[in-house]
Amino acid sequence: MVAQFEIRDKVLEFVQMATLSPVKGFYPTSAAKYVNTSVQTVFPYLIDLVKTEELILVWELRCPNFDCNKTINDSKFESISIDDEMECPKCGYEFEVSNKDFFPRFDISSSYKEYLNKKDDNSGKKKRVFSLQT
Ligand SMILES: [Zn+2]
Repeated sequence: MVAQFEIRDKVLEFVQMATLSPVKGFYPTSAAKYVNTSVQTVFPYLIDLVKTEELILVWELRCPNFDCNKTINDSKFESISIDDEMECPKCGYEFEVSNKDFFPRFDISSSYKEYLNKKDDNSGKKKRVFSLQT
């Protein structure tokens, strides 16, 4: 069994890696894969990072047609509710919106991206200064 602190550490490591890369966000499945555990295990740790504003939780509405499964809308679906009739703009599939058509995605907040990039730059400078002195 992996210790809680180790999971938290790995989740943060993954999030920081993602933040310093050009990606906008990620799915909990990629975090789970990185930590080598289940989505249920990493999810609460990701939610913690939403609370401290590193991440933003976005619910994507996806087409329930298995051959399509495209993201129809994200974050702007305040007007969409459960049991609404929807037509997928990509494949034309008509369906009633249900809970299981929504998938969580974590976007990296721009303020955290800015903060971490700045911090990363500084530590780079420190390393260079240090190597000059040796
Ligand atoms: Zn579709």
